[in-house]
Parts: sequence; structure tokens; C-alpha cells
Amino acid sequence: MQHFPIFLDVAGKAIVLSGGSEAALAKLRLLLKTEAHLHVFASDPAPEIETWNTDGRLVLTRRPLAADDLAAATLVYAANEDTAEDSRVACMARDAGIFVNVVDNLEASAFITPAIVDRDPVTVAIGTEGAAPVLARAIKRDIEERLPQSLGLLARLGKAFRAHADALPMGRIRRDFWSAFYFTSGPRAAAQGQSAIEATLEAELAAHLAAETRPGHITFVGAGPGDPELLTLKARRALDEADIVIHDRLVPSEILELARREAVILSVGKEGFGPSTPQERINGLLIEHGRTGAQIVRLKSGDAAIFGRLEEELDAVESAGIGYSIVPGITAASAASAQIGRSLTARGRNSELRLLTGHDIDGLAEQDWQALARPGAVAAIYMGKRAARFVQGRLLMHGAAADTPISIVENASRPQGRSLPSRLCSLAEDMVDADLSGPAVMLLGLSPRDAATAAARIAIPAKEHA
Ligand code: SAH
Repeated sequence: MQHFPIFLDVAGKAIVLSGGSEAALAKLRLLLKTEAHLHVFASDPAPEIETWNTDGRLVLTRRPLAADDLAAATLVYAANEDTAEDSRVACMARDAGIFVNVVDNLEASAFITPAIVDRDPVTVAIGTEGAAPVLARAIKRDIEERLPQSLGLLARLGKAFRAHADALPMGRIRRDFWSAFYFTSGPRAAAQGQSAIEATLEAELAAHLAAETRPGHITFVGAGPGDPELLTLKARRALDEADIVIHDRLVPSEILELARREAVILSVGKEGFGPSTPQERINGLLIEHGRTGAQIVRLKSGDAAIFGRLEEELDAVESAGIGYSIVPGITAASAASAQIGRSLTARGRNSELRLLTGHDIDGLAEQDWQALARPGAVAAIYMGKRAARFVQGRLLMHGAAADTPISIVENASRPQGRSLPSRLCSLAEDMVDADLSGPAVMLLGLSPRDAATAAARIAIPAKEHA
């Protein structure tokens, strides 16, 4: 982030703008929404600027900007549409130690003006650091559509009502009150004007004062394979409402950022052979927080019910008498098969799909190798990085063809995703050569849809030799 977004208090402060044509007008239309004192310097100002001057909305001086004019300025805009004049203004501002924006010149600017969605006092600022104005416009349009015009009025009246709302106990009930007002009853009342909104605030307050505290609840949520867009809508909503999020290590930060800002985020990472939180401690955390009445999201990668020790946690929660629900997620096998463009089942090839783990509590996991060795068998092997040689040996021993295709799919659905085509005979070596650093599944019986192109497209990093 080269540019850090902040909201600057400009009420009663001087903002100086140099320029009088289109670029100046565009900036002034924005600046006129503020409570700043606007000083415009232009030898040949557009008629709108003349009018604003006459109406007392800004002060116009009909000459080029001079260094002395900057004495009391908080911000300076160079909007002359003339490179030489803009750089003269920018130099003066820099010399005076004042932040300057040169219109359409990111390099020469000390700050940039974001695209703005204005529901004053709610203001959304969108910045792309100059990378993609089209993107900023599209996002702005999206947010404009999503935020009702009444939001500004609701926020103003809500703000004035804050002291009354303090009668509600802190935490969930108070939050529920505000979210009912802003998202349900408030927008409905807005159509009837200010007094209807004020009546709604009173009615919601009375209803929430009478409400009982909600009991604790745990939602076991499958976070999917990593791409935040592969979260279900239910998962999004659960994250939106959570007081506490307890997550596994494989859940990426992009997904955790979707949790409510006030939510407490606890990591109970368990990764292969690395350090981990003992299962008893995780169960203990769920019960401890559940008993406080917290709304907890227990976030597990992929689908919570696949190699996620879900039932151990359900047993613990249930025996403590805490309510729970389960939100399924997209498992790694689905994301991996999508990444290699193959179907996990196919008529005439396999009418059965197995999900295996390379490891279980006893170490390397034994399986029905005979069934897996049959031609056409398809299986997704989870947690198999260190089990590749074992799996290879067992399958060959049970008569699987040496050229059985296997795809190693790392970081499925994530930006750094890789698919590596392999064969049973070279699996162990290919796994070492792949030098995997992210989570990976092996898809036994499937090669990437177009193995040749895939191999050319996805470079396997050269192994480092000491
Ligand atoms: N509940 C999860 C699995 C947890 S076990 C699910 O349904 O996907 C952890 C294993 O899942 C990892 O060792 C790896 O084999 C697999 N895995 C999880 N995310 C993955 C991803 N994005 N790409 C490939 N494999 C993944």
C-alpha cells in the first residue's frame, strides 16, 4: 500500500486550487461537498467558478497562484491542465511543506483523491493507486447501488441517538439493535421521513431492552480450499455475525478479514508435523467461549466434515449443552479436480470416488489398496506429501499399472495454485522434485485434462542444489 487512506478534518481549513477549466471543475465539485474554505486561483475561470464565487461558496482570485497565497493552506490542488504551471504550483507547495495533488500526475502528487461514494456522514473512499480508474468506477457503481440513499439520514439520526442506545448492555444486544436499525427497520421507515425514523429508533430500543440474551452458539463452517469466492453465502453470513472465530492454519488471511471487525480471531493451527494446538485445548476453547453466550464460528479449511476431526468437537460441544450448526464447504478434492479440468467421477471409468488420508493417528494410513489398484480407480489423497513413497509402493505391490496417472495439485483455487502431472512409477521422485510448500492433494487416476499444455504452462521450480 503506497497510499494510506485517511479522512482529513478540513472543516474551516483552507484548500487552495490552482486552475479554472475542466480538471479544476471536477475537483471543485467534490471539494464543495466539504466544509473547507476554498480558494481558487485562475486567470481565466470557467463560468461555474464565477457563479460559485458570487454565491460565496469559494473565493476566486483572477491571477496565477503565488507562493504567498499558500500561507494558511492545508491542501493544494494543481489543476491547470498545463504541465509547466502545475509543476510550478507543486514546487511551491512542496517548498511550503503542504500536501499537493497534481491532477492526473500520480508521481508529482503527495496525495491522491479517491473515488467517493457520498452518504454523508457515511463516506466510502475507493483507491486503486492510479492502477485502474475503470476498476474504481466499477466498484463505486457497485457500492452506490448497494447503499440506500437514505443511509446518510439514518446515520445522522443514529448518531444523535447513540446516548440513548447506551441503555442497552454492551456487546451482542447493542450490536443487534444497530444492525436492525441500519439494515431492516431503518431503511423501511426512511421512505416516510425523519419522524418515522426517530419513532423506529425508539421502538427498536424498547424491543431490544426487553430482549433476552442469546445463548452461545457454535457454527462449524467449511471455509473451502482458500479462494474467498468459494465461501458459501452461509459461511459469509456466519463470519459477519461472529463474536469469535476459531480457525485452522490452512484458512488464509483473506477469508479471516471477512469476519466482523470486532470479532476475536483465534488460531488453533494444526499443520502436518509442525506445532499444533492439542484437540482437548480446542474443545476447551469452544466450550469456554460458548458458555459466555458468544456466537462462535469454528472455521475449518475445505469441508469441516472431511479430515477435520469434526465429530470430536461436536461431541465435546454437545456434552457441554451448547447449540451448534454445520455449514458445509468445498473440499480440496473438488477444487483440485476443477484446477486440472477433470471430473472426479465419469461414466464407464469410475462409479466410485475415494477420499483418503495419507496419515492417520497411527502414522501412514493403510487403505483398501486392492480396490485402489484397479484400472480406472479415482481417489483424492489428502495430507499425502510425506506418504507418496508409501502409497506408490502399496499400489504397485497390489498390481496397479506403473503408468497410472496421478496429478499433484498444490494450493488448489489459490493464486499460487500448481498442478503437476505424474505417474505411479515416478510419484515419489516427482513429489520431491515438486518441492511443495503449500497444501496439496494427489488425484490418483487423473491426469490434468491437457497434460502436455499443463506441463508447459506450469513451471516446476528448479530444485536448489547446495
Ligand atoms: N477439511 C479439508 C481437509 C483438511 S486436511 C478439506 O475438506 O479440504 C488438510 C489437507 O487438505 C492438506 O494436507 C491437503 O492435502 C488438503 N488441502 C487443503 N486445502 C488445499 C488446497 N487449497 N489445495 C490442495 N490441497 C488442499
